[in-house]
Amino acid sequence: MNTTPAAPRAASTASVAQKALHKLGLVRDIDLALHLPLRYEDETRITPLSSARDGQMVQIEATVTASEVQLRPRRQLLVQVEDASGSCELRFFSFYPSHQKTLAVGARLRIRGEVKGGFWGRQMLHPAFRQAGGELPAALTPVYPTTAGLPQPYLRKAVVGALQRVDLSETLPPGTEPPYAVFRRDGGSYRAFNLREALQFLHHPTPDVSLSTLEDHSHPAWQRLKAEELLAQQLSQQQSRRERDRLRAPVLRPRKPEGGVLPLHEQLMAVLPFDLTAAQRRVGLEIAQDLARRVPMHRLLQGDVGSGKTVVAALAATIAMDAGWQCALMAPTEILAEQHFAKMIGWLEPLLAAHGRRVAWLVGGQKKKDRTAMLALVESGEAALVVGTHAVIQEQVRFKNLALAIIDEQHRFGVAQRLSLRQKLAAQGMEPHMLMMSATPIPRTLAMSYYADLDVSVIDELPPGRTPIVTKLIADSRKDEVIARIGAQVADGRQVYWVCPLIEESEALDLSNATATHADLSEALPGVMVGLLHSRMPAAEKKAVMALFSSGQMGVLVSTTVIEVGVDVPNASLMVIEHAERFGLSQLHQLRGRVGRGAAASACVLLYSTNESGRVGETAKERLRAMAETNDGFEIARRDLEIRGPGEFLGARQSGDALLRFADLATDTHLLEWARELAPAMLDRHAALAERHVMRWLGGKSDYLKA
Ligand code: ADP
Ligand code: MG
Repeated sequence: MNTTPAAPRAASTASVAQKALHKLGLVRDIDLALHLPLRYEDETRITPLSSARDGQMVQIEATVTASEVQLRPRRQLLVQVEDASGSCELRFFSFYPSHQKTLAVGARLRIRGEVKGGFWGRQMLHPAFRQAGGELPAALTPVYPTTAGLPQPYLRKAVVGALQRVDLSETLPPGTEPPYAVFRRDGGSYRAFNLREALQFLHHPTPDVSLSTLEDHSHPAWQRLKAEELLAQQLSQQQSRRERDRLRAPVLRPRKPEGGVLPLHEQLMAVLPFDLTAAQRRVGLEIAQDLARRVPMHRLLQGDVGSGKTVVAALAATIAMDAGWQCALMAPTEILAEQHFAKMIGWLEPLLAAHGRRVAWLVGGQKKKDRTAMLALVESGEAALVVGTHAVIQEQVRFKNLALAIIDEQHRFGVAQRLSLRQKLAAQGMEPHMLMMSATPIPRTLAMSYYADLDVSVIDELPPGRTPIVTKLIADSRKDEVIARIGAQVADGRQVYWVCPLIEESEALDLSNATATHADLSEALPGVMVGLLHSRMPAAEKKAVMALFSSGQMGVLVSTTVIEVGVDVPNASLMVIEHAERFGLSQLHQLRGRVGRGAAASACVLLYSTNESGRVGETAKERLRAMAETNDGFEIARRDLEIRGPGEFLGARQSGDALLRFADLATDTHLLEWARELAPAMLDRHAALAERHVMRWLGGKSDYLKA
């Protein structure tokens, strides 16, 4: 229902609306068909005024008995209406002369609004109205998510048109109904919906529907939609996996010892100061088996922080290097890349030297001269391993023969970056093997959906001798006690991280906050070297600070979340995280993993803010309690998924477009299982249907799922 009279400039309104449609991504008919209502309004019946309850949204038909403009206490239009059962006052604080005309005494109107039944009689504030009469709609009226310049009536019309035009013919093979029969409510039975019926229904549901099943998406029409969406995702991922299986990659088999010379990977094992854990050996084997195949490996190596993924990666690299090929190891930040580089040099250069080869280093801020030298090493093949940041994948970097690309903290890298790594061996008609590492455990349902095209290895045990990290929640009003504890730790020869939260709205504020904390701690801890690390610092300065901390000279390192990933200083045994309530649980777990890397008992203090209203402080504390309860990254990830949805885990892996819009992995596991089982059979036996299904749901976006 529309309160505005005829649109004054119809043509320009339409073009504005058209633009707005595009802005919302509503371009194809199918986009509009899948643009589902936020909620519904019931305009299917007329309620007698006498039976309208206080606070109820009703539609009435009534006659105007009085209409006047009042000027005090503020200008307003007051209109009395009445139907056969009672009367009501309409009140408008903003109105046009045209409104007054429509609302003239004697006019019969259809009015919709919320009834307030006060002592002085019924009232409606700014109700929608138009002339009475005309047929009542048979279905509920949809209210869509929209944006400025796109009025509901326009959007409704566009959706109706699209629903008429769009091809919604069946794409599910005969006899493959999704399992939504489980959703029977109130003993009532629901019929099955095909896609056309489901969309028709969700846009224009009959008034007898139980609104709660629409709201919680348990209605079978919703189930059908979610099942189809999950199926499209599965088809697309399993398809890309099949395409990859047709590609070729270098076959890399561990060398046998010859002439008394051990293969590189055995030499590396021999120099390591520790034995591999059983889990490390198992995943190492899984990777070695992949490398020996002639199709490119795409494997995700998951392991909680500190589980020892780096050495597994290094061992995989030795297999490739031993066969004369090159490897790349890429990390999202310079600090992390630097740590990897130091480790790789330590482990590998002595071994590589015998082959006349070495480890190269590539980062953004490098001196031109160094960079040129490194690029030459990469191109000639003298660099058996290249460690670096995004700089490794730039176009000018030409590998002689890249066989294995290792990406640490893979969720920090985007699709385009993985694609360009894959192209680094294109000249030889092959693709390199890819090993992606992540310390953010991916819950099973996520792995089954978004990562369905990857093989997954999990390191599910920590190296022995680690004492579990004790996590404490402390109100920030007790900061002083915490600082005293830091002093004691440092006096004991231990080191401490102090993490300041990222302030999203303002990097400058973020910085000043960290700077202030740094000053406070320096003052409170005389005689202790307190360092500061933040993302805006020049690379050389960061490096210097990190070096002081790594060598143990610096007792306390204040930092923004730049240390989140991968930093490894085993002597650090206390971490304080300020405003912990601003972080996601998985992120806190990552941060916490920076301590507890050595044999000393380690602790993590989560300072939560109490200056917010007490209640907010309580919920935050409740959420944070999970951190104190478990050190299991998977359990934490599961809770995080419940609280914050999948976005946190996927990072740059998926463009927002490719995210699931309808299905909810927390509640729709049965539909996911169904889709996962159906997809391969469908690709085998109903290829045309499968293709139509993917095009309908993903359009051109399916490419994005393939990197
Ligand atoms: P992450 O999986 O978080 O990347 P790292 O690879 O940085 O973990 O390893 C954490 C620490 O554990 C490093 O200091 C590493 O040298 C050490 N480490 C790795 N594997 C073992 C092992 N099997 N036994 C003892 N220490 C190990
Ligand atoms: Mg790591």
